Amino acid sequence: MNEYDSNRIYDLTATIGFNKTNIKKEADCFVINTCHIREKATEKVYDEIGRVKKDFKYSKKPIIIVSGCVAQAESDEMIKREPYIDMVIGPQSYHKIGDLILKYERKKEKVNETEFDVVEKFDTLQKIPNSRNKVSSYITIQEGCDKFCHFCVVPYTRGPEYSRPFEQIIDEAKNLIDKGAKEIILLGQNVNAYNYNKKYKLSSLIRSLNNIKNLERIRFTTSHPKDMSDDLIDCYRDCEKLMPVLHLPIQSGSNKILKSMNRKHDREYYMSIIEKLKKINKNIKISSDFIIGYPGETVKDFKDTIEIVEKVGFINSYSFIFSPRPGTPAAEKKLNNLIENEKRLIKLQNILENFQHENNKKYLQKKCEVLIENKLEKQAKYFGRTQHMTPVIFEANNCRIGELANVKITSFNQKNLFGIYTVNNINAA
Ligand code: SF4
Repeated sequence: MNEYDSNRIYDLTATIGFNKTNIKKEADCFVINTCHIREKATEKVYDEIGRVKKDFKYSKKPIIIVSGCVAQAESDEMIKREPYIDMVIGPQSYHKIGDLILKYERKKEKVNETEFDVVEKFDTLQKIPNSRNKVSSYITIQEGCDKFCHFCVVPYTRGPEYSRPFEQIIDEAKNLIDKGAKEIILLGQNVNAYNYNKKYKLSSLIRSLNNIKNLERIRFTTSHPKDMSDDLIDCYRDCEKLMPVLHLPIQSGSNKILKSMNRKHDREYYMSIIEKLKKINKNIKISSDFIIGYPGETVKDFKDTIEIVEKVGFINSYSFIFSPRPGTPAAEKKLNNLIENEKRLIKLQNILENFQHENNKKYLQKKCEVLIENKLEKQAKYFGRTQHMTPVIFEANNCRIGELANVKITSFNQKNLFGIYTVNNINAA
């Protein structure tokens, strides 16, 4: 979502005459768009500002703007701690960035803009075309969260759940497709909670996009198990452009820990969704997120997680040791032993890597459908992704960015598949 926001921030600043530069020392304004999910996010912002300060020690100070979730969470504190910062702008206020810069240039007064103006934000963004022209393009359709998992800052930094108007999203998609997008990735903190006017759901959006002629692929992320409704599951049967992979975070396989996390689902419910999905689409694969060493996680709880991992056979998953986020209920809890947590994480990651390895191995010597996203610099090689999102690097003399190519896979490593472009018919792995 930050990538989407960063592009839109650029579109907004372009309206007041700003351009991007790749030469750092040429810049007269820096926007540091931040994410608060990972540990030490705040410190990374100060480190980055330290580097800018050093670069501009003997030249005119640029305008420094911190935007995104760290700006929302830390607000005035940032300006107090680092007077080099001129503005903090929250993720629901960035549509005002152009006016704020102009005002700052006139008055030279520090700005703290961290209101939740999400409706106004998308109304403003609608009027400014999305300049992104990538083969695979993001569209934010939903923001915020009402779930309040005990470890997560999103409900505090992005605010309550909000769904953009249906037509606004379809228009943005058509605009991106006209500019060459072949894949649309619908984004939201709780993307499958999308519900506009109690009439349009995520399934309505997918079905509409599925009918757009020049679009090849549809994906969405990130989903909450509780919002995996049957109408959405049915899209995996009916919509051929919806890619057969779902990122569905479970976080833990232990019902005790899920309850303590306030996840609002248990392992049985999660498994019932996986079963429905696998029944409806035999080709579907699932990826997930895991938090290891959540306060109170015992050996038995961890075993429950391993058991569910082995049952589902997840691919492309993310796993981290629990780290407290200030202001969340979980931050008040007693931490587990770090050495034990590390041992558990290694064990889990070995199992996940093994599934990934076995999954990649299945492609070997087979042809698979790859959407070509770009060409590697100075090489006769291209980059793209399979239907299941696995990166593919392949040799080809001349092919088209945006083409759905047949690639014969000849080798693989943990993360990537490698192959050769072929013109024969698709026989996807
Ligand atoms: S559902 Fe997702 S975004 Fe919402 S609180 Fe839980 S982890 Fe955070």
